[in-house]
Amino acid sequence: MLSKRHFLLASAACAILTATSALAQERVKVVATFSILADLAKNVGGDRIDVEALVGPNGDAHVYAPAPADAKKVADSKVVLTNGLGFEGWIARLVKASGSKAPIVVASGGVKARKADGGHDHDHGGSDPHAWQSVANVKTYVNNIRDALIAADPSGKQAYEANASAYLAKLDALDRELKAAVAAIPPDRRRIISTHDAFGYFEEAYGIDFIAPQGVSTEAEISARDVARIITQVKQLKLPAVFLENVTDPRLMQRIAQETGARIGGKLYSDALTEANGDAPEYISLMRHNIRQISAALMR
Ligand SMILES: [Zn+2]
Repeated sequence: MLSKRHFLLASAACAILTATSALAQERVKVVATFSILADLAKNVGGDRIDVEALVGPNGDAHVYAPAPADAKKVADSKVVLTNGLGFEGWIARLVKASGSKAPIVVASGGVKARKADGGHDHDHGGSDPHAWQSVANVKTYVNNIRDALIAADPSGKQAYEANASAYLAKLDALDRELKAAVAAIPPDRRRIISTHDAFGYFEEAYGIDFIAPQGVSTEAEISARDVARIITQVKQLKLPAVFLENVTDPRLMQRIAQETGARIGGKLYSDALTEANGDAPEYISLMRHNIRQISAALMR
């Protein structure tokens, strides 16, 4: 095993090499609409590209209002990566305003779209945009990103293909890990109540039911009266765990736990990565964090 000092030296050497190759050849400028997509692009593009996310860590791409600086970033970019499925209602206007001739690549192209359940932020044009919550879909994203980078930078073909296949192997391992974690949960406990409605693809791919609280707005802060309704529902359905992001009053959470015996789950990340020092700075760590939270809440 390498010592930390060795690791630092190796990183420094790497940084110097990277800087030298960047001097020799200008990197391809890529814009991604949100942080998860930027991470996928980094994995495929490696040091041949410079990728920037318009909506960064912890940001909400549903309700984003582009700034003038974004038009400049788009104008300077050679490729614009989007999720599609109605996720970024603001992107077409931004690209037009920027005057950019860069292709707008829909990373989810070819993915089988789910119908939106309705509720989560706004209209997604009828389809559920959160396709990245299934690793199988993200493999399609990676293939699309690889092809888009090759089209923009044909001399990098070999590098993009090698990076993509290395990353696809990591995604296969992640997918197996998620399935094994779910398999270890007793089948009758694979159900949680959640105010999130961004996990439809996760539910379909991995078989954890996300049940929405009935008669409770999932967007506003949950009131004491809503909590009474949730308690009734959790008891009726004998749900083992609750993941309620918009209950910020710890006394209400305690009341739910006491009266139902359900476990309180931690935070699940859906639409954005965290900052580098957070729980989910990369797509793979995001999925891993979520399954750990879910497993911890559902295991007997
Ligand atoms: Zn969302």
